[in-house]
Amino acid sequence: MSEQPSLAVVGAGPAGLAAALAAAGRGVRVTLVDAGDRAGGQFYRQPAPALAARPPQAPHHQGRTWKRLRDGLGRHRAAGRIVHLADHHVWCVAREEATGTFTVHSLLGPAQEEGGTVRADAVLLATGGYERVLPFPGWTLPGVVTAGGAQAMLKGALALPGRTAVIAGTGPLLLPVATALAAAGARVAALVESAGPAALLRRAPALVTQPGKLAEGAGYAVRLLRHGVRTLTRHTVVEAHGTDRLEAVTVSALDRDGRPRPGSARRIPCDTLAVGHGMLPHTDLAETLGCTLAGTAVRVDDEQRTDVPGVWAAGETTGVGGAALALAEGHIAGRSAAARLYGRAPDPRHWAPAARARTRLRAFATALDAVYVPPAGWADAVTDDTVVCRCEEVDAGEVREAVDVLGAGDLRTVKLLTRAGMGWCQGRMCAAGVAGLAGCPLTAGRRPFARPVPLGVLAALAGTEGEPGTE
Ligand SMILES: Cc1cc2nc3c(=O)[nH]c(=O)nc-3n(C[C@H](O)[C@H](O)[C@H](O)COP(=O)(O)OP(=O)(O)OC[C@H]3O[C@@H](n4cnc5c(N)ncnc54)[C@H](O)[C@@H]3O)c2cc1C
Repeated sequence: MSEQPSLAVVGAGPAGLAAALAAAGRGVRVTLVDAGDRAGGQFYRQPAPALAARPPQAPHHQGRTWKRLRDGLGRHRAAGRIVHLADHHVWCVAREEATGTFTVHSLLGPAQEEGGTVRADAVLLATGGYERVLPFPGWTLPGVVTAGGAQAMLKGALALPGRTAVIAGTGPLLLPVATALAAAGARVAALVESAGPAALLRRAPALVTQPGKLAEGAGYAVRLLRHGVRTLTRHTVVEAHGTDRLEAVTVSALDRDGRPRPGSARRIPCDTLAVGHGMLPHTDLAETLGCTLAGTAVRVDDEQRTDVPGVWAAGETTGVGGAALALAEGHIAGRSAAARLYGRAPDPRHWAPAARARTRLRAFATALDAVYVPPAGWADAVTDDTVVCRCEEVDAGEVREAVDVLGAGDLRTVKLLTRAGMGWCQGRMCAAGVAGLAGCPLTAGRRPFARPVPLGVLAALAGTEGEPGTE
């Protein structure tokens, strides 16, 4: 290890930023690698500089925290303690067994045809999460977007996905998306949430431990009322209609078993459907490194260490729980990494407030997870001719045939028989839907590369060696 130890942080969202600041502040040389062209991740996504947007035009959250992170990053960069590599899409992190050091491989810029490497003594994965996408008839029509995608379009480009929107699915993300679209001038025809108040009440004891979060929820409810947004709970979108693009959706009430209640269907005209069914952690890089998962998330200890030496993980990659939890975990991970890189055991008392926040927020996230689950019968409403894997154009009928006729019993076998999940997105869009249709658990598909890599980039890697921190 070099005199001043180095840490590669992958992901510049709340978790990665908090971690980078904590480690850099304690004498570690940090390289912050992120696919985005600016730091901030999903929550603090900033409008493109060319738009010259100022709040309140730019939708922003927790302005003071963002300012602290942004200014801290600026100071550390100016002092040479953090190098921020924007527009770097990491496709693999490799651990050198002999030395225990790491090489972070990325593809540069929008074209992603050129490769880059960063070498470091340790690595911290803060790659966030992605949206769970579930198919339904008509979901591939232009005008149907994910809830987070609509929000990203609004935050990053200050653009509305359409004039009349229906926001649907399940999860707390639907609230900020509906209010942000309404505030930006869209007519939000309905917010369609498949969870119901009874599910919230059942989890009330865990939820009331976070009065701040409840107040945030109440604030959204007030804004929805003010914008005249109709909220339909225990409802779901069963079909999107249109010829060349979205023209309307059919929504239905759900029965006790989570299936559309006969006779309850109604049609809502709209040109945008923003639909989301919660989030899943990004675990691809961790899996390649051999980190153990707990369910669908990377397993970490109290210091946010994975079970691979020298690898820390923080934020939604270790479980979906929101930006505040990501900040707390990132802070702990950065401090732990700094201490360990200098050969010291860290003193957890130094991060006690962050640890307390982490405990509370994880409990809150677990309660929310139990409330906001996709309706149990969603797969029954997917017709055989509905495309489920867009990259490979596999429909629901083919997935069902793989299970019912060919005997596939797990996601990998369904993939091998149908090609669902083998395309450009590598299953990120379709894996949850295919698993649900096939009736098998959503298991991680361990892949050597997190994204498609040009052969020229792989060929150029042969024989490259370097010192930690070089690129
Ligand atoms: C599309 C979307 C919209 C959201 N909108 C809201 C919202 O409006 N309100 C709200 O409360 N919550 C929202 N959330 C949830 C919220 O963003 C998260 O709770 C929070 O950002 C988690 O922080 P994080 O640091 O763990 O991950 P993120 O903020 O997701 O940051 C992860 C970072 O890792 C980078 N990354 C991932 N993989 C790679 C790779 N292979 N190579 C290089 N970089 C990589 C990403 O570019 C990103 O910058 C949204 C989530 C998503 C996915």
